[in-house]
Amino acid sequence: MLGLMMNEPLRIAGLLEYAAKWHADTEIVSRMPEGGLHRYTYASLGQRSRQLANALTELGVRRGDRVATLAWNTHRHLELYYGISGMGAVCHTINPRLFFEQLVYIINHAEDRLLFFDLTFLPLVEKLAPLCPTVESWVLLTDRAHLPDSSFPVALRCYEDLVTAQAADYQWPVFDENTASSLCYTSGTTDQPKGVLYSHRSTLLHSYAASLPDCFNCSARDVVLPVVPMFHVNAWGIPYMAPLNGCKLVLPGPGLDAASLYELYETEGVTFTAGVPTIWFGLLTFMREKKLQFTTLRRMIVGGASCPPALLKAFDEELGVEIRHAWGMSETSPLGTVCTLKTKHLQLSEDEQFAVQTKQGRAIFGIDMKIVDDEDQELPHDGIAFGDLLVRGPFVVAEYFRSNHPGELTRSGWFRTGDVATIDPDGFMQITDRSKDVIKSGGEWISSIELENLAIAHPQVAEAAVIGMPHPKWSERPLLVVVRKPEATVSKEELLAFYDGKVATWWKPDAVEFVDQLPHTATGKLLKTQLRKDFAGYSF
Ligand code: ADP
Repeated sequence: MLGLMMNEPLRIAGLLEYAAKWHADTEIVSRMPEGGLHRYTYASLGQRSRQLANALTELGVRRGDRVATLAWNTHRHLELYYGISGMGAVCHTINPRLFFEQLVYIINHAEDRLLFFDLTFLPLVEKLAPLCPTVESWVLLTDRAHLPDSSFPVALRCYEDLVTAQAADYQWPVFDENTASSLCYTSGTTDQPKGVLYSHRSTLLHSYAASLPDCFNCSARDVVLPVVPMFHVNAWGIPYMAPLNGCKLVLPGPGLDAASLYELYETEGVTFTAGVPTIWFGLLTFMREKKLQFTTLRRMIVGGASCPPALLKAFDEELGVEIRHAWGMSETSPLGTVCTLKTKHLQLSEDEQFAVQTKQGRAIFGIDMKIVDDEDQELPHDGIAFGDLLVRGPFVVAEYFRSNHPGELTRSGWFRTGDVATIDPDGFMQITDRSKDVIKSGGEWISSIELENLAIAHPQVAEAAVIGMPHPKWSERPLLVVVRKPEATVSKEELLAFYDGKVATWWKPDAVEFVDQLPHTATGKLLKTQLRKDFAGYSF
């Protein structure tokens, strides 16, 4: 027997029309790549997204077509999120931080038909255009006054001309909620990037999940500034979560330096923000130097990479911001876990509470997870056993876009994250490593992340990486690779001694090497495959 409720498909356009109608005068403020701030409302976002959908129709875009963006967080990018997905096409957000060959690969793999880009990326697009034959039109996200004289090989279109020429009376089509809505390629450290193809349904369910009190906890009284880029994993779902809750949105455009961010936090009354650890390190250093405090900022999310405990402590104690550690990946839309305490933790000492807060957190509703050993046997939730982390749920990837290995991903009904983790009896998950990076010493596993976090806590260490190097007796042993701060004098012996009493003796790295810099992926994560190549043939 079926329920007798209205069968209205979940659609992204519904979020937009909700905000345009019920939060019509709530503001969206953007720092523009052309300079200056742009300010309008959800009502205007609704109107302009409908105009854009008319323009896309006129350009011949059909349902299921991929339409690409190469853009900062601005109101125009937001219009593309809604205009493209709303009409039933696929909004393919491209991450400009990927390597050039990867960009060429994904545009051709996705067969993008149109590509919308910010002025900043004109030099990049000039190089891409000849190599991307599927792209029929290249649209500059600007107005006529800012159109540059370009020796562009194909005709450039002007976004403002396209949009303003259209009427605003567009009727969003109704279609199956499982229709593809947007596409994001994961950077991948070894293989070619792989496309995660989100649906209207997965996006809507993820937006509800993101809104929950133990997740982002945002309301119509919040002012939200996503530092996480809209060009990668949909800025952690904030562009959808904000209209669902009627939050004021502040979009930082290309201004991701600490001074520009701090200015927006203060002038726009921001209460909630989200970003990766590197950004927060920069902001912390800036605020310490200038002796600044926040007036309105109350909560922030840190994720995308393991957050060193020292950073969590500094924001909480020095700047009075509740900082929540979160874990996720492109394949999980991306939110998987967020760390907030349960009632039972409130009786614990501050140090004990803090130990919980450094973990990646509890599964949000919509995500189920487990850890398994090498034989795929489930491991206990004791906070000690660690194994491969597997997840499943309605906003977890089932198959990569145009995969060469259909059915491979979730044959078991679970997605293998490639992360290694523990889960404690209260359900708090802690990442100990990427499965490729875990160090296997004498049949036991050593967490490279834990060793790195300890090294970074040393006042003279700027950055640290720990990799497993072949060892005749133990099969692998940890090697600590360190970038020292300018003028630091700390010796290798002192760094090794710094581990005493903090980890089991057999976890202590066997050796330390100093380098000027560490290799990173296009998205700023440590590129350990390269580091292992750099140290190939190393002997302790
Ligand atoms: P990429 O940036 O490589 O395209 P994602 O953004 O999807 O891919 O990155 C997902 C990966 O980032 C996770 O599998 C995990 O290894 C790492 N990650 C994300 N959040 C955290 C966190 N809070 N702590 C540790 N690692 C994290």
